[in-house]
Amino acid sequence: MLTAIDENNKIINLLELDRKELTGKFYCPSCHSELLIKNGQIKVLHFAHKSLKSCNLWLENESDQHLGLKKILYQWFKRTDKVEIERYLPELNQRPDLLVNDKIAIEIQCSHLSIKRLKERTENYKAHGFKVLWLMGKDLWLAEQVTELQKNLVYFSENRGFFYWELDFQRKKLRLKSLIHEDLRGRIICLQEEIPFGQGRLIAHLRLPYLAQKLMKIPTFKDPKLSSFIRQQLYYQSSKWMKIQEKYYQKGENLLTKKFEGPYIAPLGLNLLESFTDEMTITTFTQIDQNVKLYYENFLINFQRNSLEMLYPPRFYAIMGKQKKEK
Ligand SMILES: [Zn+2]
Repeated sequence: MLTAIDENNKIINLLELDRKELTGKFYCPSCHSELLIKNGQIKVLHFAHKSLKSCNLWLENESDQHLGLKKILYQWFKRTDKVEIERYLPELNQRPDLLVNDKIAIEIQCSHLSIKRLKERTENYKAHGFKVLWLMGKDLWLAEQVTELQKNLVYFSENRGFFYWELDFQRKKLRLKSLIHEDLRGRIICLQEEIPFGQGRLIAHLRLPYLAQKLMKIPTFKDPKLSSFIRQQLYYQSSKWMKIQEKYYQKGENLLTKKFEGPYIAPLGLNLLESFTDEMTITTFTQIDQNVKLYYENFLINFQRNSLEMLYPPRFYAIMGKQKKEK
């Protein structure tokens, strides 16, 4: 933690003080136990509990990555916007890493947390009129496939589809992954952009997915070995593929004799094989309030009609759908 209260009950922010100004004792603003002053390996001066037992707001001591990122983002926001660090919000009993312009809570998430806890914290912010932005440290970066936890940290906009924020502490970059799609093997296809720490106005970068902008697109590719991949999945009785095959049997069809010729790539959460067999199952995404079903439907219309050479944002499919109707 980077804040504490001193003996006079004044709030101390380590990012605004020199070490030599630190005299006397310091206490946790939440549990009031005495704190130690520590230097991390990368030398971010911080406070740490002697014991976390009695504290209900600080569940763990933070990593160097977390402290370092908090410091960098605080200084980056501060140049252009109002920012408070570890500001306690009593009506929520939560303490976002950073609070920007009184309404935007920034959570720098460097370690795993339960989906239940993530949902509770997110709903609590929303219920009190805050917007929460989760920015992910290394352990939560998107890798080959999107995990259940990551699905609940994904955002959505008409111009960028599904998107996700990553923080690269070592390389000092903020990374936006957008137009997130999956192929039938569950592999991620997306756009990736990086912004060096400190460049421009941070809150403006974070709004980028919502702004009007030139049409983004990703070329698709075919997967010539898809049929043998599916055969293998069924041979090893993968539960995901067995379920799909079950639905095909019910229709009198068989995955093993189906031809997979074109690219089979779809927006995150939409399974191209299941969506043709029965009612679309819609994943719930904790951070997304919009109805993504419309996006899926417009995508599917386009998928059935065209050869899917490019992947586009939701806005593109919506406009295409409208034009079709008007004709
Ligand atoms: Zn405490």
